[in-house]
Amino acid sequence: MSAATARLDVERVRKDFPVLATKPNGKDLVFLDSAASAQKPNAVIDAIAEHQRTSYANIHRGVYQLSRRSTEAFEGARVKTAHFLSAADPREIVFTRNATEAINLVAQTWGRSQLAPGDEILITEMEHHANIVPWQMLCEATGAVLRVAPIDDEGVLRSDAFEELLSSRTRLVAFTHVSNALGTINPARELTEQAHAHGAVVLVDGAQAVPHMAVDVCEIGCDFYVFTGHKLFGPSGVGVLYGKLAHLEAMPPYQGGGDMIETVTFEKTTYAPVPHKFEAGTPDISGVIGLGAAIDYVTALGLDAIAKHERELLEYATKRLAAVPGLKIIGTATHKAAVVSFVLDFAHPHDIGTILDQQGIALRTGHHCAQPIMEHFKVPATARASFSIYNTFEDVDRLVEAIEGVRELFT
Ligand code: PMP
Repeated sequence: MSAATARLDVERVRKDFPVLATKPNGKDLVFLDSAASAQKPNAVIDAIAEHQRTSYANIHRGVYQLSRRSTEAFEGARVKTAHFLSAADPREIVFTRNATEAINLVAQTWGRSQLAPGDEILITEMEHHANIVPWQMLCEATGAVLRVAPIDDEGVLRSDAFEELLSSRTRLVAFTHVSNALGTINPARELTEQAHAHGAVVLVDGAQAVPHMAVDVCEIGCDFYVFTGHKLFGPSGVGVLYGKLAHLEAMPPYQGGGDMIETVTFEKTTYAPVPHKFEAGTPDISGVIGLGAAIDYVTALGLDAIAKHERELLEYATKRLAAVPGLKIIGTATHKAAVVSFVLDFAHPHDIGTILDQQGIALRTGHHCAQPIMEHFKVPATARASFSIYNTFEDVDRLVEAIEGVRELFT
């Protein structure tokens, strides 16, 4: 079947996720919080368990067979990750704890070694705190200045303002590929081209993109791309930093310790080649192998089929939710991932979350680690339904029915 016609067999997919058979509060689970963290398929659970049962040993050290097997599986996951992002070379993939650590790594190594007082870092108003705070800390340490490109009232980046904020002082541009709180998809390639035209280095936060669409870092052209394993159906505790080889080679190491060195004497230490230079200490070995299994899993389903299914869910959910009197959707960009943030004029988001939980519906309420977005829309918090490969149209119906129930209770 061609990518254009491939459909996701959602009933089959649902059978892969054991948690969907559980009944929180005695009700069938409707899990609408995959943007916070996705559920795990058997393929990932089994890969981690199998590695720990039969192939576990520390990596890159032992000459014995078990350690060699463990190392091969770990490095195999690096190759899979490189293919997944269409990176040119597996050495461009650094394993971290999560997306947050990947961004901090760039801030603390590239940033500290490159930035001087008066240099500028440009981010956008729709960033997750993970793509704000590390840059603020870097500005404090170096005297660089943080600039913020605004969004409009649909939750779309204002491209005119973005362009105006770029100048020869801009050294780094960091933006999210997909907003976790609004669902907005940013035109990553165009923004990267604009930033490069001013000589800036570009970091793209792909935490919310890779579970939902095919990503090609060479096509985007960015210098750095980060994502986090747990939102991609993999385990928590594993993240990825993609960096162009020339940048990674020029950057100083992040943390010092075992595994990141070539030779150590008390007088002088030399560092291992990339990517190991950035991977000090024993990593989450089984977690990285689990991430490799997650990548195999989504690749087999097909990112195009996933994107199509989620687009249909988004359209249906948007139509049904928009028809609920007193409900306002926050984030109405034309190019959106399957995230619907909303507020009700008759109930606080926290109350919505609590009442829906009693009906087995898990959705996120709060500021979604994006307080500046809440500030833009003048709301303290939103309720957020985020959809994934295992969600169905019935899940949307259950959500809408439950919100109708909240209205009856509060009005
Ligand atoms: N960026 C975005 C857009 C996110 O949604 C998240 C997680 N909510 C992160 C970064 C950080 O991910 P992690 O906590 O796994 O580092």
